[in-house]
Amino acid sequence: MLGKAELSSEFKRSGLKAGDVVMLHSSLSSLGWVQGGAETVIEALLEVIGEDGTLLMPALTAGSKEAPFEGKQTPSYLGKITEAFRTLPGIKRSFHPTHSVLALGKAADYLLADHIDAKSACGPGTPYYRLAEIGGYVLLLGVDLDRCTILHTAEDLADCPFLKERIFYYRNQEGVICEKVLQKFPGPHRDFIGLDQRFRRSGIIKLGLVGDAVTRLIEAKALLADTTKLLRENPAAILCNNPSCQDCLQQKGRIRASTLLKERFTLAAIISDFSPHSDATFEILSHYGVDTIELSDYLTTKILINGELYLQGLSKKIEEKKLEVSGIGIATDLKSLVDKKLTPQAERLRDIANNLKAKFLRLRIRQSWLSENDEILEAIRTLARELEKVGVRLLIANDPQGPFAETEEVRALFLQLKAEKSENISFAFDPVGFVEAGKSPFRNTFNKVSKVIRNLYLTDSRFKDGTLTPLRKGNGEIKELVSALRCRSYSGYFTVGSLTDYDPFSLEERLRDFWDMFSSL
Ligand SMILES: [Zn+2]
Repeated sequence: MLGKAELSSEFKRSGLKAGDVVMLHSSLSSLGWVQGGAETVIEALLEVIGEDGTLLMPALTAGSKEAPFEGKQTPSYLGKITEAFRTLPGIKRSFHPTHSVLALGKAADYLLADHIDAKSACGPGTPYYRLAEIGGYVLLLGVDLDRCTILHTAEDLADCPFLKERIFYYRNQEGVICEKVLQKFPGPHRDFIGLDQRFRRSGIIKLGLVGDAVTRLIEAKALLADTTKLLRENPAAILCNNPSCQDCLQQKGRIRASTLLKERFTLAAIISDFSPHSDATFEILSHYGVDTIELSDYLTTKILINGELYLQGLSKKIEEKKLEVSGIGIATDLKSLVDKKLTPQAERLRDIANNLKAKFLRLRIRQSWLSENDEILEAIRTLARELEKVGVRLLIANDPQGPFAETEEVRALFLQLKAEKSENISFAFDPVGFVEAGKSPFRNTFNKVSKVIRNLYLTDSRFKDGTLTPLRKGNGEIKELVSALRCRSYSGYFTVGSLTDYDPFSLEERLRDFWDMFSSL
């Protein structure tokens, strides 16, 4: 059984001293049996820090519309010691719908003032931020870093991309329920525990023991500075790596999306199937920061076959998931699309692209029945003119089985189109297609066609046997291509996913592979 005298001396031994400003996160049960319970723990702490010290405890609340924050009388959900502290005479509490703080001592008024006016729950202008500013401590009593609210202050200062704006509620003095918009509100799961070793090694955390409770005494200022620096370099440093943690997968998706916002190119992914009842594909996209999709040849064909209802389902899902469609793809001989004039299939493709607000129709021309170059050119012009009417660009992709298999063939086509000022036609660069045709995509090809590229497929394969490989494992020279285009402020698409009928890699593997490569640039 622990008494007040014993607790006081153990708190002192764990590093606490007279005059300290300390924020406590605690679990009463972790101490073992304490004579007099929570009140005794509080009395012992107050005795150690003395008249010049200040004791603080977060008193978190839901701040929901149904249970708005009402000030001093609103219970906190942070445990017995907090609740005992809240009801002691002379205790002050900051006014805040979710992250109010209780305090007693010299610095209480300064620390708690105007919490409600701060833009965020834990950032500048809040008791958490001010605690660090004035050289205070955080004491974790029988709890770990998971409970250390001031780490959210670091997220706030580092402006982590996964923080969200949210609305909470409080009741004002007139009894009216009011809204408070909180910026940069901390999200669901965090791996704060994963930082413990780092802080122990650097001496920011000092371990101790009070009763059975392991204590962590932390210099708030050092903790805040170190964590903010860490998160500025890598905001994912406090997210977990559990592949089943939807929270952290989503948050990493937001980090990736914010990385892409700084780029001029758009990252897209080829979607090769769609089921109206499954969100799995769309979830994967959001985990990797992708908000743009291209429909594969197969999926476009599926829409042609399944008709209007299927298209509507896809269109609705795309809207619901706030996705953009870069383009739709089709592999065909040109004759079936354009024979003197547009065929019904070409009209249908134009309408699908228009319906999905696609920016382009990407065509792989396969062994054309049109043997004369003039005929092929005329068919391309006809299709492009028609697409231009609905604001859709025509992209011609190189294809080892078609008239544009070789670098020189692609070059000749675009020189001709340039001479005619046919501006609605660009090039979709498929490295794997060139590898299959025996050309190095970067060394033999890039400079000859670089000006007309609007889409680069991020795929790789080997000269030897044509096997598709992860990026940078084959002869596709992907890293060189991506880097060269970025050096030219390329504003087209980088598209993840393969144009070939059978891709041994899943969408998720392809996306992970892209980010692996991209983080090395
Ligand atoms: Zn997680």
